[in-house]
Amino acid sequence: TDSVPSGQEHPLPLRPELADEVPYGAPQLDVPVLLNVNENPYPPSDAVVATITRRVAEASRGLNRYPDREALGLRADLAEYLAVESGVRLAPEQVWAANGSNEIMVQVLQAFGGPGRTALSFAPTYSMYPEYARDTSTAWVAGRREDDFAIDPVEAAATIAEVRPSVVLLASPNNPTGTALPPETLDAVLAAVDTIDLGGGARPVVVVDEAYGEFRRVGVPSALELLDRHPNLAVSRTMSKAFGLAGARLGYLAASTALVDALRVVRLPYHLSAVTQATARAALEHSDELMAQVGSLRAERDATAAWLRAQRHEGRALDVAESDANFVLFGTFADRHAVWQGLLDCGVLVREVGPDGWMRVSIGTPQEMQAFRTALTEVADLDE
Ligand code: PMP
Repeated sequence: TDSVPSGQEHPLPLRPELADEVPYGAPQLDVPVLLNVNENPYPPSDAVVATITRRVAEASRGLNRYPDREALGLRADLAEYLAVESGVRLAPEQVWAANGSNEIMVQVLQAFGGPGRTALSFAPTYSMYPEYARDTSTAWVAGRREDDFAIDPVEAAATIAEVRPSVVLLASPNNPTGTALPPETLDAVLAAVDTIDLGGGARPVVVVDEAYGEFRRVGVPSALELLDRHPNLAVSRTMSKAFGLAGARLGYLAASTALVDALRVVRLPYHLSAVTQATARAALEHSDELMAQVGSLRAERDATAAWLRAQRHEGRALDVAESDANFVLFGTFADRHAVWQGLLDCGVLVREVGPDGWMRVSIGTPQEMQAFRTALTEVADLDE
């Protein structure tokens, strides 16, 4: 059949839609200045390491047993953290946790997508979204963003009415552009999905992906504030970015209990290891200290954007997208690959991503950002 790649000695019955696919991921290169995958540049402090070590040692004494399947202790700690971070108090049963928000999003599509259904987002956006759709046999439609990477609320409502998605994925702040979703736009999306009946009165699920939520500027609200009025809204978050815990793999989602219960149906048994649960809970004990770093990363982000805006390349000012995240998208370069390679040759790794000619730099330490500025000035022949 056409699902069997031909010309191989031992062909495998690969799903045809996977035939020419390669594993997702940025190049993993060993260079001094890593500004390519939106990590937090600050490793856990000695105090955080000490708590993690103690809690993991305690957990390891019970590793002959499967972990707590419901992870309710961790979910209660996450609910407590969200109450402090955004002022929204949720029950532990309204919070769900998994191995990174990547796994959360696959579970959302396993529960609410699937064959015959469509997931909708607005591009450019996180390039894993179409992969989650592919992997769950969900059709994928990408609507359009404006030149400033905002979503037009009227157009979004029209697209939703036309596509009738069962899931709408909205990253806010968006990756790779850094764009936050204004409340009016989210209201327009929620109003548009409320007019759709997917059968039996079911309305589409709207997921606001706030992986970078903690980096938002003052005055930008979190979609968490709308949860009590919208049982079909979910907000996903992660400990990978603001918490500086990308290596621990802990993502989570806040929603109505009914929506969370649907994810509990599709999750693998014991999906979240006891070691992961202990690590995340240990880090959450240090939320205050970890959040203090977010302030300095925000300031460094604003300084980086301001510096980029002041630069001229080939006779015109650089374009710099407004960012509420821990990265900045900038350009445009006639040959962005040459600029990327030039930066790499100077030991600075950024990401070739976004529309043609743009690239994305994650916010590192002040020293790393100095190295980035020095390298870019030379490589792209910038002047002020
Ligand atoms: N959502 C967005 C918008 C992201 O940029 C990322 C990571 N790059 C994720 C989700 C996934 O993060 P994690 O699985 O580490 O929680």
